[in-house]
Amino acid sequence: MTKQEEAGEKKGSPRDLLRLLVYTKPYRVRLAIALVSLLIANSFGLVAPKIVQHIIDAAFTRRDVAEVNSLALVMLGAFALQAAFSFLRSYLLSYTGERIVAEVRTQLYAHLTNLPVSFYESRRVGELTSRLASDVSVIQTVTTGAITELLRIGFLLVGCIAIITWTNPRLTAVMLAVVPVVILSAVFYGRYVRKLSTRVQDQLAEASAILQETLSAIRIVQSFVREEYERGRYRDRIREALRLAVRSSVASGSFVAFIILVVYGGIAFVLWVGSRMVLAQEMTAGELIAFVLYTFVVGGAIGGMAEIYGQFQRAIGASRRVFELLDTAPAITDAPDARPLTAVRGHVELDGVGFSYAQDRVLPVLEGVVVEARPGEVIALVGPSGAGKSTLVSLIPRFYDVVEGSIRIDGNDIRNIKLSDLRQAIGIVPQETVLFGGTVRENIAYGKLEASDEEIETAARAAHAHEFVSAFPEGYATIVGERGVKLSGGERQRIAIARALLKNPAILILDEATSSLDSESEKLVQDALDTLMRGRTTFVIAHRLSTVRRADRIVVLDAGRVVQEGSHEELLALGGLYKRLYEIQFRDRPALFPAEA
Ligand code: ATP
Repeated sequence: MTKQEEAGEKKGSPRDLLRLLVYTKPYRVRLAIALVSLLIANSFGLVAPKIVQHIIDAAFTRRDVAEVNSLALVMLGAFALQAAFSFLRSYLLSYTGERIVAEVRTQLYAHLTNLPVSFYESRRVGELTSRLASDVSVIQTVTTGAITELLRIGFLLVGCIAIITWTNPRLTAVMLAVVPVVILSAVFYGRYVRKLSTRVQDQLAEASAILQETLSAIRIVQSFVREEYERGRYRDRIREALRLAVRSSVASGSFVAFIILVVYGGIAFVLWVGSRMVLAQEMTAGELIAFVLYTFVVGGAIGGMAEIYGQFQRAIGASRRVFELLDTAPAITDAPDARPLTAVRGHVELDGVGFSYAQDRVLPVLEGVVVEARPGEVIALVGPSGAGKSTLVSLIPRFYDVVEGSIRIDGNDIRNIKLSDLRQAIGIVPQETVLFGGTVRENIAYGKLEASDEEIETAARAAHAHEFVSAFPEGYATIVGERGVKLSGGERQRIAIARALLKNPAILILDEATSSLDSESEKLVQDALDTLMRGRTTFVIAHRLSTVRRADRIVVLDAGRVVQEGSHEELLALGGLYKRLYEIQFRDRPALFPAEA
């Protein structure tokens, strides 16, 4: 793709808007009724000036009271019908618009949850949230309002011009002289306003990203006394958005003023020419009034067109951003012939695994890694910071795909296994436990949504979580997180372990917390982990002496390669990197069981 093409893609095109039409498919009948109502309602709008013309001529020229009375009744009836059909149109279109937006939102969210971890490394969550909220709302405004308005106005415009051309071509020509000026300036201004409003949206998305990041890390912000700094960053974005929004409103305001001047100036001119025609008896007073009324409708319609044009421009930008997300293909998906994984034994083999985060692969993070874990074995991964331990374990559940070599589970290449089965077979207990904002029960049941209360309690007991949970007045119904009780680091870990126990995976990935808990809490966590590890193949990123001593094998990584492998004793006897690491990393760390040190 060339640079220009790329820029074209970025700007978005009306095609993006057309894609929204796909979503209207289930509502075709409703839409058809809405369109018919629209046409009927507006036909009344078209005949009204004609009725006015007849009333005025009946009153002033023919002086016929009976005709005036019946015409007034006809007019009243026409307006009543117009009101009824307008309601029908407005209701059906809003209904469809709301349904489409709900559909786009759910689809977008579903799509986002499927995108791989790597996608979220290059995006900011706040920005995505803003897309889901504000971009989709812009689309909503357009689908529910602007499209209808466009149809209504288009119909009125064509109808009015046809009627007045037929009744008075000369006066119509005078009136239409102003139209090209209005249309040209609409195109020019519309572009300018679109550019400004895209920039406003960008700044707002940026501000919302800052908001999300700082609020979720408020402790860090406050501990570094960076409130003023963050306020400044946020203020800058908001100011910039404000500046652009003001510029954009000045632009659209002056545009409206300009249109008013041109359109109503044109109407005044038409009135002047028309009045002279009435004086010369070339038309009746009623005809002139009807003509002026039609001219008002045409003027209003053209003015409305310009506004809708701006709305469409905004909507094109917003739908481009939404579709861009929807079109991001999940890089990691099931192979076409992916097989299910049943009765997992947990035999994991890493065979010549190479990996790099960058596309160009100049900086390999892992190279030629060979590790075999037989069912039930505990493999401890150790190595200096940045050696690739976290990367290695994130390849097993396919958060990323290997670049070279392969990973097999029970002899099957994981790329040929159904992704959901693969991940179902793996339990992960990370360093930092993330709990959701629901109850303790919901947080544990995340490991098995259909778990019974007994199962949840059994898991919690095994994870040593039952003791502290049952001490809460509301027990398992206690709300945790932002709106509820705060749990200590050790308690959170035990909830995470209960959750993993309930999931009952054959393979376990543990990232040991580096921060040590007090020895009481640490013993409980360690006990819970021991229960969890029993009978499961475990990869543990080890930070504790007790862990490496108990592991069946220790794999020492350095700069992405396996440099040593063996038991604690073997490796200590061997000397080299493990021994050095042991001296700086493990020996001086407070041991869980002092006797082991
Ligand atoms: P630590 O013990 O400090 O957590 P580690 O051994 O787990 O380190 P990794 O986190 O696997 O090391 O990182 C290995 C290398 O990959 C590092 O050089 C790191 O900068 C790089 N890296 C890690 N994650 C990413 C990522 N998402 N994108 C790009 N590079 C990454």
